[in-house]
Amino acid sequence: MIVLYENARLIDASGERFGALCTEGGVIRAAEEAFDFACDVRVNLEGRALMPAFIDLHCHLRDPGYPNKETMETGMRAALRGGYAMLCAMANTNPVCSTPELVRANHQKAEKLRLCRLMQSAAAGENLEDEMSTDYAALSGETGMLSNDGKTIFSDDFMRNLLLASKKYGFLVSTHCRPERKIVARDIELLRQTGGNLHVGHISRAQTAQMIRAAKKEGLRLTCEVTPHHLFGYDDPYRVNPPLRARADAEALVEAVRDGTVDCLSTDHAPHTEADKAAGMAGISNIEHAAQIFMKVFYENDIPLTRLSEMASLNPARRLGRKAGLLAPGYPADLVILEPEGAFTIRRADMISRSANTPFEGRAVRGRVVRTVVEGETRYDHGQAL
Ligand SMILES: [Zn+2]
Repeated sequence: MIVLYENARLIDASGERFGALCTEGGVIRAAEEAFDFACDVRVNLEGRALMPAFIDLHCHLRDPGYPNKETMETGMRAALRGGYAMLCAMANTNPVCSTPELVRANHQKAEKLRLCRLMQSAAAGENLEDEMSTDYAALSGETGMLSNDGKTIFSDDFMRNLLLASKKYGFLVSTHCRPERKIVARDIELLRQTGGNLHVGHISRAQTAQMIRAAKKEGLRLTCEVTPHHLFGYDDPYRVNPPLRARADAEALVEAVRDGTVDCLSTDHAPHTEADKAAGMAGISNIEHAAQIFMKVFYENDIPLTRLSEMASLNPARRLGRKAGLLAPGYPADLVILEPEGAFTIRRADMISRSANTPFEGRAVRGRVVRTVVEGETRYDHGQAL
């Protein structure tokens, strides 16, 4: 089936132009000013934005094990509402995703659901501890990401071996660093010694951004991510891990987004029940509002949507070694149609994630996702006439 999206603001990391985009069989065929050939479906975007769908390098789908918080299905439906076509789900499930069989089972589940694409991250250590390694050779046959997210890797030897294995087998190591500055400094030093594929998860402090900026200047190859809540929230005791910091930290993170120090926008979507939050668990359910928070922050700081696309689509795709994240021929037809302007208010009552744990009730954000297309199929449609 040939689908033509016309009268669109075509926005990706390479720039913005007005025109039309044609997809066929789940793949982008061409992006031009206009097309004159026959197509099966024409979608008039009436000036709305068309971007590569978002890729989240960091979320928690709680599947298997915690269906009262979220399931793969509820999490993916929330993600589609947020414009996401691909998710990297962390391994702190029950049981922990520490074997090739468990990782494969989640990939098969995702294929059956036909909602988002999934990369199930595998645990780097048994029970997410930094004592006994999981089987890196076997796991790298099933997934491109290993992480003990939720827990810090304190052991220097464990981290060194993990980085060496990442180089040998080609997977990405996503880290969770508490205390942040100390562990990030240690990981940068290990990277300097051993090399490897290091991706620093959810940085939250001005000084961490500065360390990573310096490491990149030195020529070290590493990437890092920032979440919507660490850009948008500060001086707020709401429990997330890492915590929301001071206003100066949030402002420094915005500058690190602007100057390229931060590579990726990730959600760290972490749904919890009200009872679990009351018991002190850390996390925010945010995947359905993430893009609206990013659009507000980027707009207020005069950072263009082309940069948002680079950070939310192209850079995550590259880090996973995937050809995705651009509106170019041969790229997957994973698309998001957006209205980047207009006010929107976050309401817990409207959320479709199974958990509505957010400190942002009543907060004004910007724009909305109208439609999300994965593999050429519309998998979320806001329902407005198009
Ligand atoms: Zn984490």
